[in-house]
Amino acid sequence: MKTYSIAAIPGDGIGCEVTAEAVRAVDTAAERFEFSVTWTEFPFGAEYYLKHGVGLPESAFRELADFDALLLGAVGDPRVKPGPLEQEILLALRFHFDQYINLRPASSFPGVPTPTAIPGDQALDVAVVRENTEDLYMGLGGAGKDSFRTDLAAKRGLYDLTGAVDLGFSTPTEAGFSLGLMTAKGIERVTRYAFNLARGREEAIVHAVSKANAVPHLYGFWDKHVGETAAREFPDMTLKFVNVDAACYLLARQPFDWGVVLCPNLFGDIVSDLLSALAGGLGLAAAGNIGDSLSMFEPVHGSAPDIAGQGRANPLAAILSAGLMLDHIGEKDAARAVERAVRDYLASGAEMPIELGGAASTEQAGQGVREQLRKAAAR
Ligand code: ATP
Repeated sequence: MKTYSIAAIPGDGIGCEVTAEAVRAVDTAAERFEFSVTWTEFPFGAEYYLKHGVGLPESAFRELADFDALLLGAVGDPRVKPGPLEQEILLALRFHFDQYINLRPASSFPGVPTPTAIPGDQALDVAVVRENTEDLYMGLGGAGKDSFRTDLAAKRGLYDLTGAVDLGFSTPTEAGFSLGLMTAKGIERVTRYAFNLARGREEAIVHAVSKANAVPHLYGFWDKHVGETAAREFPDMTLKFVNVDAACYLLARQPFDWGVVLCPNLFGDIVSDLLSALAGGLGLAAAGNIGDSLSMFEPVHGSAPDIAGQGRANPLAAILSAGLMLDHIGEKDAARAVERAVRDYLASGAEMPIELGGAASTEQAGQGVREQLRKAAAR
């Protein structure tokens, strides 16, 4: 029997509650598909930060490197100002393990209303593939007055970058700037991922989101390398560029016309949130941060301190994220079964999660999904 070692960081607030249900769903799928999972839980989050003054100890990176995947709940707590937990846990893991893909599927689910009417014969089934390490998220920038120099440095899986920007104004001026940067290799690998994903979904088209007309240096470069990679490696498939503004407009009107949507980091952040709203909300929005070493799967929602500890959290996004994790580690049938079980639970007429207007607590909703997983096995 195949055994996987999976790390879990439940984190804070509802992160702990929804991760517990995601773990149970994976264990139920493992029973059904005859593999086993050994879980190791790590205590990182607000409590750890308040006690130790750091998000993660250095040793955590070494320890985590040995796992097959990482399941994360959410970090965030009113006792810690916004910033350190996200930067020292989420972003630190993302950059350390060079998780260069942010995968954000958005599908419509039975019984979950969508703001856009979906014709009976169509379904909303979009996958946003967002580049996760470059663009305006490089963290390169500064602010100053009149004439100033900013030293820049960044460390990525693909390179270490150093440099400086010198700015001067002809009249007294205070200014801030951020440098967006992308590399050919960074663009190639995310493009390759998006096309392979489309191929796996038996789709022949990838839409690439851009804004090359207004920001030619950065997004023109993106277009060039997306286009070259597609033509070289996927000549049998079609690439369509669409400006980010048009993409938002068209997605909001007809989201069911789209499949894989390839985005630079900043646009991907925005487009994927739009899509999670179009698909039915945060309670169903799953995500994977994927790279060539440790990949990390987490619901899109945060720790929601307002409802923490009340059993009101919807665990479906966390369970769907665990499904993405199963797909990533190679348990494709189990991954499909978890997604199916969420759909079957929502269609079953059972009490819906509180967040979706029902009365099912976090545990009851998790239980509802597990029942469907077992029922399908018995069929
Ligand atoms: P962050 O600032 O990290 O995004 P947050 O928890 O404050 O964290 P969101 O995750 O955007 O923000 O959530 C906003 C609100 O939506 C929450 O405060 C909560 O009321 C609700 N919410 C989010 N996720 C869920 C969920 N899984 N189940 C029920 N309600 C949720």
